[in-house]
Amino acid sequence: MSANIEELKKQHPPFEVVLGYMHEWAKVGYEGIPADLVDLMKWHGIYPQRPQEDGFLMMRVKIQKGAVNGNTLRTIAGIAEDYGRDFLDVTDRQAFQFHWLTIQDVPDIYNRLDAVGLTAKGACGDTVRAVISSPVAGLDAREVIDVNDLANEIHHHFSGNVEYQDLPRKYKVSITGLPEQEGIHLINDLGFLAHKVNGEVGFDVWVGGGLGAQAHLAKRLGVFIKPEEVLEVAVAITRAYRDHGFRQNRKKSRLKYLIQDIGAERFREIVETEYLNRKLTDGPAAPVARFGGVDFVGVQKQKDGNYYIGVATTVGRITPAKARLLADIAEKYGADEIRTTPYQNLLVPHIKPEFIDQAIEELRQLDLAPNLTLRATTIACTGTQFCRLALTETKARTAAAIDYLEPRFLDLDVPITINLTGCSNACTRYQVADLGFMGANFSGQEVYNVHLAGSLGEAQRTGAKLKGRVPAEQLHIYTERVLNFFKKNKAPNESFVQF
Ligand code: SF4
Repeated sequence: MSANIEELKKQHPPFEVVLGYMHEWAKVGYEGIPADLVDLMKWHGIYPQRPQEDGFLMMRVKIQKGAVNGNTLRTIAGIAEDYGRDFLDVTDRQAFQFHWLTIQDVPDIYNRLDAVGLTAKGACGDTVRAVISSPVAGLDAREVIDVNDLANEIHHHFSGNVEYQDLPRKYKVSITGLPEQEGIHLINDLGFLAHKVNGEVGFDVWVGGGLGAQAHLAKRLGVFIKPEEVLEVAVAITRAYRDHGFRQNRKKSRLKYLIQDIGAERFREIVETEYLNRKLTDGPAAPVARFGGVDFVGVQKQKDGNYYIGVATTVGRITPAKARLLADIAEKYGADEIRTTPYQNLLVPHIKPEFIDQAIEELRQLDLAPNLTLRATTIACTGTQFCRLALTETKARTAAAIDYLEPRFLDLDVPITINLTGCSNACTRYQVADLGFMGANFSGQEVYNVHLAGSLGEAQRTGAKLKGRVPAEQLHIYTERVLNFFKKNKAPNESFVQF
């Protein structure tokens, strides 16, 4: 990103003028894009892919409340087939990502997305990114409230809104009605967790979470807000960040640095006095996530008596052909809905009891098994295959390691999370996994730094960074040794963070 991005954003307001530029650039090709404006395409979901000179692009598409219908999933598959070299990634922000696009392809892709109500606007850039919402919203009997409508409301207000096109840095929001199971708020700039206080349903609000080279877990604002206040409070907090966030140094511009500097209490005061003109109600903490790092993989009964089936992908990669078949399964046995999860997995809800066996069988044939094995709890970022910032290869290496490890640890009685990234930016959050691997370069070799026993669950902590590093080609062997030691010495049902 250009050093004068703050000026660029003001000279070329990304949501107002950059889309128009892109349509012009599509006519002349990649060489016609002014070098200093290339990175403004981020605001419309697009990054140059590595190596940048080749002129290929990747595009991230936001999935509102993490749910699509079969027709939409087929549209996504069609784009990947026609323009993305038959390649599709599910990201850890419940989005889809295409690769190998050219700027000439972009107008048609946007038209196709638009036709099914999807957008790439705001998927990247210094704005409000895709809102993470619980993948089991409206399904799980344990939830305090169905957050689907609220997630929609937040998405509609912020997505592509010019008022937020020039935030100091990227800004991530999450909402869940099931805080006992989900801890993702800890690593979002703004997180809403539903809970009940004296029988009343409301939200605990967390701010300033974010990983990157310096991991900060979010802090509580100490409030309890009603569901009808969620959007108003989200707007106030986001405006406060927009106006008070640091802008001098992009490495210190996330909300987490403002919270670190002035504290959550002072930030709350700013939000209340300058943006809400009223005090928020004090409130206790919502119950902490017990599992947090574990995905919703497997067959689970819904509150309406139907079932959802969560299936594991391998590092988020699926072929468009599989996506089409998944759409068929959701239509045949469910209610024409497929959800994405923040762990690069997929979920088919509303399966009628009489169709469970057929649905599972067809999913297995797609290699999308509903089992909570290592595959389900392992995520990997884009890495050197496409990412310009990467220092190591990630997806293929992690997939190979999982193929090696999974059959060896089928008998583990607790889930293990493995998060791997290709650099310190932590897109797939290496600091909050049982085993976190951060890609680096050491004496010209690809290596991984190791962070052990981080957790978004009960422990709510970042992992301990070990001295030394693992050569990339030894990743699977190192992991096998750690897990063997754990398996041999742990108590029954003892988790990695408890060990
Ligand atoms: Fe790229 Fe680094 Fe993010 Fe991985 S963590 S996608 S290598 S920037």
